Amino acid sequence: MSLWTPQSWRSFPIQQQPSYQDKALVAQIEQQLHKYPPLVFAQETRDLFSQLAQVANGDAFLLQGGDCAESFADFHAPKIRDTFKVLLQMAVVLTFAGRSPVVKVARMAGQYAKPRSGDFETIDGVSLPSYRGDIINSSEFTAEAREPDPNRLVTAYHHSAASLNLLRAFAQGGLADLHQVNRWNMSFVESNPLKERYQDISQRIQEALRFMEVCGITSQTAPSIRETQLYTSHEALLLNYEEALTRRDSLTGDWYDCSAHMLWIGERTRQLDHAHVEFFRGIHNPVGVKVGPGIDGDELIRLIDALNPDNKAGRLTLITRMGADKLAEKLPQLVRRVQSEGRKVVWSSDPMHGNTVKASNNYKTRDFEAILREIRQFFAVHQAEGTHAGGIHLEMTGEHVTECTGGAYGLSEQDLAQRYFTQCDPRLNSDQVLELAFLIADSLRT
Ligand code: PEP
Ligand code: MN
Repeated sequence: MSLWTPQSWRSFPIQQQPSYQDKALVAQIEQQLHKYPPLVFAQETRDLFSQLAQVANGDAFLLQGGDCAESFADFHAPKIRDTFKVLLQMAVVLTFAGRSPVVKVARMAGQYAKPRSGDFETIDGVSLPSYRGDIINSSEFTAEAREPDPNRLVTAYHHSAASLNLLRAFAQGGLADLHQVNRWNMSFVESNPLKERYQDISQRIQEALRFMEVCGITSQTAPSIRETQLYTSHEALLLNYEEALTRRDSLTGDWYDCSAHMLWIGERTRQLDHAHVEFFRGIHNPVGVKVGPGIDGDELIRLIDALNPDNKAGRLTLITRMGADKLAEKLPQLVRRVQSEGRKVVWSSDPMHGNTVKASNNYKTRDFEAILREIRQFFAVHQAEGTHAGGIHLEMTGEHVTECTGGAYGLSEQDLAQRYFTQCDPRLNSDQVLELAFLIADSLRT
C-alpha cells in the first residue's frame, strides 16, 4: 500500500466535491485554516475511542444525533441548547431506563457539508448547481448563491468553533447536572403524552441522588453527576477542509483530524479505491461508515479492513441505513459475516436515510412508524445473532418542528406545512425523540 499523508487522498478519484472557480483562493484559504488552532484535542479523541471500544464489546450504547445539515443562518444559542438538552434527555432515559452507559456524540459543530444525489437541481425549467451545504454554497435558488465560495470554509470553521465552545460550556458548566434533571422539562415535556413516564424517571433519579448523597457520593466526589462528556462528529465530505485540520499529535506522533472527535464516510463516497477511504485510513480518530442495502459481505469485509486493519475495537462504527422494508433481508447476513470473520465493530442504526419518502403534498418526510420499525428490527437481528445492537444515529432537533409524520401526537402529512424548517432532510422533533428513547430503552433492557 502506498504511503499515507494528509494529502495522499488528492491522487485518488473523488465524488461529491465542489468545483471552485478561483483555485488560488482555495489554496490560500487551505493554508490559512492549516495554521488555525485545532477544534478538538487528540486525547479527547482517544477517550472517545476507548468508550466506543466498550460499545463494541457490548458494555455501552452509542447515541449520535443532530441536524442533517447545520446552517449559517440558523446559528444561535437556543438552537444549540435545545438540541443539546434533547440529546441529554434521551441519554438520561437510555441510561436509567435502559440501564446502559451512553456515549453521546453530537452531529453538530461541523455538519456543514451535504452529499447530493444529483449535481443539478431543476425548478420550473431552470437548472442550477445543487446546494451542497453551507460550507460550500448557499441554498437560495440563484446562480450566484449556488456558486461554490471558498470563503465559506473559514466561516464554517468559526461557526464550528463557537458551537463547540458552547457545547463544552453546557456539558461542563452545570447545565448537565443531574440535579437539574427536572428543569430540563422543557415546555414540550409539559404537554407530552409521555410526560408522566419522563417525570417518573426524573423523580427516581432524584431519589437515587439523595440516597447517594447520604452515602457521601456527591457532585464533589463524583464529577460525573455534575457534568457530562459530549463529543462532536460530522460527515467528513469536504476533504480539503478535513486535511487542513489534520494535525500530528505531539504525544504519539499519530495523525488526527481535529475538526471533530469522530468523522464518518457517507454511503455515496465509501468506494474502496476512492479518496475518502484513503484519507480515513490514515487518521487515528474513531470513524464511521454508512452502509446501505446495496453492500454485500465481501465488500463490507474489504471496507472494514481498509478502515480498521488492526481490528481495534472502538475504531470503526458501521452505521447501517437499510430502510425498514429491506433490513430484515439484508442485515442478518452482514452481521453473520462480520461475526464469523472476527471483526470488531460498533453496529449502529441510522433509521432515517433508508426511510425518506415524498408526502402527497410533496414534502420530503419520514414516518415515525417506519423509523421505529427499522430500529426494532435492528435490535431483533442483533439479538438473534448474539451481537450487540450498539447504537443509534438520528437526524433530530430540539426545535418544535413538523418534518417527520407520526409519533404520539400523530402528525399527519397536512401538519408538515406548519413548521417545516429543514433545508435538507426531515428531522425528528423533541417529542418524537423522547418517545423513541423510551421505546429503545425497553429494547435495551430485554
Ligand atoms: C446523512 O447522514 O445526512 C446522509 C446523507 O447519509 P447517507 O450517506 O447514509 O445517505
Ligand atoms: Mn441527511
